[in-house]
Amino acid sequence: MEGLYGNYSEPPEFRADPFQTYVQDGQVIAGFIAVVAPARGKRPRELYPSRKKPIDKKNEKNLLVDIATGKETGIVVATDKGFFQDPFENNIKARYNTIEAGAITILNKFPLFSKDKQHIPNGIMLVTFPTIPIHFPKENHEAVSSLLMSVKNALKNLRDLHGSSYQIINFFNIGSNSGASLKQLHSQSYFWKHELPIQGKDQIPFYKTYEQRGCLACKLASKREIEDVFGSTIEIKERIIYENPDVIVFFAYSPIRMLQVRVMPKRHVANLLDLSREEISSLAIGISVADNAIFQVSSALNFQIEDRSVAFRERYDGDFHMLVDILPAWPLAGAELVTSMTFASRSPEQAAILFNEINGEKTLLEQ
Ligand SMILES: [Zn+2]
Repeated sequence: MEGLYGNYSEPPEFRADPFQTYVQDGQVIAGFIAVVAPARGKRPRELYPSRKKPIDKKNEKNLLVDIATGKETGIVVATDKGFFQDPFENNIKARYNTIEAGAITILNKFPLFSKDKQHIPNGIMLVTFPTIPIHFPKENHEAVSSLLMSVKNALKNLRDLHGSSYQIINFFNIGSNSGASLKQLHSQSYFWKHELPIQGKDQIPFYKTYEQRGCLACKLASKREIEDVFGSTIEIKERIIYENPDVIVFFAYSPIRMLQVRVMPKRHVANLLDLSREEISSLAIGISVADNAIFQVSSALNFQIEDRSVAFRERYDGDFHMLVDILPAWPLAGAELVTSMTFASRSPEQAAILFNEINGEKTLLEQ
């Protein structure tokens, strides 16, 4: 039926992300808005589906895995089994030994950062990777679990050694379009000291919303619905793609990038260090399911997206409920650059329907 919106029956819809949209000074809605607009123009990668060849893993040099087998040297900070050494010490050792572990945390190539050239370095960057060769979380959730345990071991011990005034940021970049320089799956962690907490532009809306509106994540986990900043009821039911006793995985209501999947721990925890080993294992399954869902749904829509970022929404200096966002690497343009708004041509509900059609309702909760 041809109507006002051409072949599309639905008009573009403004959607506020319930977790990062709030009222500022009683005057304006601030934070993050997405526009779900089925009639919007296609982007280059929707018009020209990926022509990438399947990745051949067998003959590829894998620098990070070579560190695990002792072929390359690395400054090891921790593994999934425990803490190795404090990289702030003067006598840190690079090693050429085989390391028996599921994942390893090392100092990054650019290991230290500071406020200026003269200043004594006040922070480090860490890289964590599974010791088996994988490129994507969907390939092996146990490897992702080991990776997260190694990150926890590194950061927990560094905080114990250096105090809670250190700031922490955790994320993964996957694929060259999201800035990853190595194909081996790896996460990054920044750990640095500053007198005042540093909050980036993307953290503030999450924290403001949490302070103003209370813990919507706990409410969503128990009641299965919440209100957004406009007072609209948002149900999670039709967007869920996986659930276990510890986490819920769903297509985000107001996607920051089209096909964004959000992994939410059910328990009220501010950051990765507060998760138990079992919860980390569940979170890893959730991240793997989310990664796989983006592959499957984007492939079904004929523009397979391999590149993505995994963003940890955490807080290390106050109360919060952590979330993990798996964000496909879509280029931003136009209106997205002049406001904190993105455009999505497929709704999260449609994405979930497609995922459920591909996988069948039954398999969803069994994994
Ligand atoms: Zn909570």
